[in-house]
Amino acid sequence: EDLINRIAAGEVVERPASVVKELVENSIDAGARRIVVTTANGGMDLIRISDDGHGMDRQDLLLSVERHATSKLSMDDLDDIRTLGFRGEALASIGSVARLSVASRTADAESGLVLVVVDNGRRSGPIPQAMNRGTVIEVRDLFAQVPARRKFLKSARAEGAAITDVVKRLAMANPQVHFVLEGTDRTASNWPSVGEGALQARLGQVMGADFVENAVVLATQRHGIVVAGMAGLPTYTRANSLSQFYFVNGRSVRDKVLVGAVRAAYADYTFRDRFPVVSLYVAIDPTEVDVNVHPAKAELRFRDQGALRGAVITAIGQALAAAGF
Ligand code: ADP
Ligand code: MG
Repeated sequence: EDLINRIAAGEVVERPASVVKELVENSIDAGARRIVVTTANGGMDLIRISDDGHGMDRQDLLLSVERHATSKLSMDDLDDIRTLGFRGEALASIGSVARLSVASRTADAESGLVLVVVDNGRRSGPIPQAMNRGTVIEVRDLFAQVPARRKFLKSARAEGAAITDVVKRLAMANPQVHFVLEGTDRTASNWPSVGEGALQARLGQVMGADFVENAVVLATQRHGIVVAGMAGLPTYTRANSLSQFYFVNGRSVRDKVLVGAVRAAYADYTFRDRFPVVSLYVAIDPTEVDVNVHPAKAELRFRDQGALRGAVITAIGQALAAAGF
């Protein structure tokens, strides 16, 4: 059982940033309005995620660290995934490669409860703990007992930067949530909630006011595909593609079709090794996209790539044309 968990952990938990992604997605699934991410030493010594979501009762808490225990979905729903997590693997996997503690309190509970999973997967607790409604998860000494994994980690600085990138993307996809990113290994970021629809305000917080001032708003619908977000002016470019962000149905993705469509949309504005800055949000019928290729790696497969490409090119082309380009 422990060996199975460790093998599964390799799938879900590649590095500190993947732990952060899984845990913050759980907080979002729990309806959190405020999520605080705290790290030390690039997440290798400590990752703490604290949320004000609906929390877990005693039974849910015990189940949460069991492999393939998910409260979110039945197997026939795999085509139509609304919550972010759906495999029930993350906490069990993390518990097999780190010291994990899960503390949680529901709205009607008298106090919180904390459950600790030590490295060999053994549990202790749950025991009562004073806390507000919500969940606090601490992951300490990630991969300390798994040298083969630890060996593949980069410097604390690089791992910390990867965490920043993950939290950025989650914040961009969830403008209604207040995000705080802090720790002994970083300067703090604080992005208060800007409300459901206020995408531009969130992009201003995360990508900088500069981008918002030098970008056009995307808002088109074509063949049932909605393209929203903001696209930088052709005069506002970067030397690399790190400032291109893509979201499909609320999840950050890396996808060749979308990258290619953006390149094509700007093709008329002759870049010499320059990259436009974009934050592109696609909403598409979930049955048109297969997200199960590898959920942890953010890869997708679209049924109709041509329609998607056309929608993106049209959205950017129209918005730039309206701005006089
Ligand atoms: P999954 O998200 O795929 O269900 P996880 O291993 O990530 O699997 O989480 C297991 C379960 O633990 C979830 O289904 C949920 O019931 C519970 N859980 C985890 N994190 C939280 C949280 N922050 N708030 C409330 N419940 C949580
Ligand atoms: Mg999950």
